[in-house]
Amino acid sequence: MEYPTLQKSWKRGMHSLAIVYPNLYYGGVYSLAPLIFYNIVNHLPQWSCERKFLDKCGGLGHFDLLGFTFQYELDYFNLFNILKENKIPFEKEKREAIIFAGGPCITSNPETLTRYVDFFVLGDAEEVIVEILQHYEHHPEKEAFLTSIAQLPGVYVPGKTKTIVPATADLNTSPYPIYQPLPETVDKSYVFGKSFLLEVERGCPFTCKFCTIPTIYPKLKYRKVELLIKAIQDGMKLDQREKVVMYAPSFVHPERKKLLQWLVDNNIPFSVPSLRLEYLDDDMLSLIRKGGQRSLTVAPEANERMRMLADKKITDTAFLEMIDRAAKHGFEQIKMYFIIGLPEQTIKDLDEMLDFIATAKKRFGRRVHASINPLVPKPRTKYEHLPFDKEKCKEHMLYLNKHMTTKMKISDLKNAALEWKLAFAKDLDFIPLLQRHQRVTQPEEFSL
Ligand code: SF4
Repeated sequence: MEYPTLQKSWKRGMHSLAIVYPNLYYGGVYSLAPLIFYNIVNHLPQWSCERKFLDKCGGLGHFDLLGFTFQYELDYFNLFNILKENKIPFEKEKREAIIFAGGPCITSNPETLTRYVDFFVLGDAEEVIVEILQHYEHHPEKEAFLTSIAQLPGVYVPGKTKTIVPATADLNTSPYPIYQPLPETVDKSYVFGKSFLLEVERGCPFTCKFCTIPTIYPKLKYRKVELLIKAIQDGMKLDQREKVVMYAPSFVHPERKKLLQWLVDNNIPFSVPSLRLEYLDDDMLSLIRKGGQRSLTVAPEANERMRMLADKKITDTAFLEMIDRAAKHGFEQIKMYFIIGLPEQTIKDLDEMLDFIATAKKRFGRRVHASINPLVPKPRTKYEHLPFDKEKCKEHMLYLNKHMTTKMKISDLKNAALEWKLAFAKDLDFIPLLQRHQRVTQPEEFSL
């Protein structure tokens, strides 16, 4: 059983939508997109919506519309696993079921899945979903429906849409998904525990060359702090949660301190995402500690030279000063994200990166974790013209493995190569790939 749920009693003439998070439940319950659909669609009198997950997807039954939200290209394989398990033909011409897809990697490049997906929702789904459903009510026959929605902003019907325009929502007028069902028992495998998810902002004002956020969300949008507080109050009334988990790519909200202060004043623990240093002053660090967070996450990405080349213009000195401040405020752990395989990155850069990590560890005096990810160039970023350089990543990985003195995690290179291929593919024939990749679960990492 999950709580809290939006119960709908079935009435004649009602329509149904299933929204699938194509990976495991314990992580998928914290994905906002299915919650946005679940809340909006279940408030429409003529529609009911259920959330489904890779490990809770058998016996899908009949749905008028079946939607997939992709946060990660490797999850494309799970589309096929789910269709196969439910005996739904892969090719769209061979089935009656109408399947759509959305999510960040689809907005970056919807072309990969055009052979299998009937239509795509690009950009902010909450802006367009109601209109799509209204069109279905008037045109339940598949071809007529697809023709009728083809020119809606935010919809891409391959072969029918002339101009693709991602949908853009006003976060201050869109309803917030306050119904966030969680199982009765949330064990340690659930990364965010029994929490209420709070999307504070969408987009990012920075333009790091490797990052897709500024192109997927070209306009940075904030929710008003009053609306955020109301969402927390309403959500907590439905089901008491142990903490609030903030979603924001870089948490630059102009009233972030006001929001955190309100949470502190109301004794509501919270956690914040990875933060930009410019925004981590003493006040913020103090509030974050008071909110119960003991660990900080930052992303130096590389040594200073590479960081500057990637347009993340923060000096080592600024990072180290922040680390001093974090120690002073009593944080117990710092997680740092780094990238290998960057263009022009040399062994000398890796040495500087290792020196930086060693200095950070010494100055902090407590636990420092490094997470190392290979550069996977993505469409519509400033690195989109680059190939995925597996050999260089391997060389860098082996070098770090030999010389790193702190605990670190490095992402799997085979998966990264595949992710790159999927990110840029057009009208990909998945059948040969499915012989080798059967089922993909949460992004794999291994410790060195
Ligand atoms: S890496 Fe972070 S700071 Fe840079 S553009 Fe992406 S979200 Fe913004």
